Amino acid sequence: MFRRPSLLFIAFQVFTLSASACPGQLGWAKYIWNEIEWTYSGSLNTTGIENGGADWNSYVGYRITINPSGFSEDIQISDDEGLPQDVLAQTQMFSQAYDSGCYLKYNDSNYYICLNASVAFYAAIQMHPSAITADAAAAGWTVDQDVEVTTSHEFGHVLDLDDDMGIGTCYSPTIMNYDDPYPSMCNFLGPQQCDVSEMLSAYSTWTVITWEPAECFGSCN
Ligand SMILES: [Zn+2]
Repeated sequence: MFRRPSLLFIAFQVFTLSASACPGQLGWAKYIWNEIEWTYSGSLNTTGIENGGADWNSYVGYRITINPSGFSEDIQISDDEGLPQDVLAQTQMFSQAYDSGCYLKYNDSNYYICLNASVAFYAAIQMHPSAITADAAAAGWTVDQDVEVTTSHEFGHVLDLDDDMGIGTCYSPTIMNYDDPYPSMCNFLGPQQCDVSEMLSAYSTWTVITWEPAECFGSCN
């Protein structure tokens, strides 16, 4: 049986992988924009990336939206042909400690929230075009479709979802599966109900506000 190459996720924190029906939560910062904007500087057509965002928006657009932007640096997407051949993409999260300008200051909208190292600042996604192109050919997908499913998965990481290490997601579909059957067995390109419920659960007790460094004041301690 063919299996998708692993979709690797790298974060600057330690987390536990769990083989559950739904992906576990990373426990990453809960702060997100109500509008998350991405830019892409690489060689792939942006159609698949746009569709990956639209797939999420179709479910959770009332809470957050993921849209392209000509200038935003919320999610910075680029290419990296140096990734291992079986890795289609990877996501890195950067906290307020990464030179945000608001590190250890209060958020201006929620004054009780300290913008410390547990609060997201921006995300970076590296795409692996040659691996994605080869994966598309093996799966019988267009490159745009493979970019879409890859992007949907990586956006899930940005939204605090962990890889699901279970096998056979057709039985409990999730875009976060780490070892997903090809679409001839499991035909979806975007997040599933499982992913959406996990994402909404992750943010259920949090006000959705900006990650951005522009509005902050004072010193937390
Ligand atoms: Zn992953």
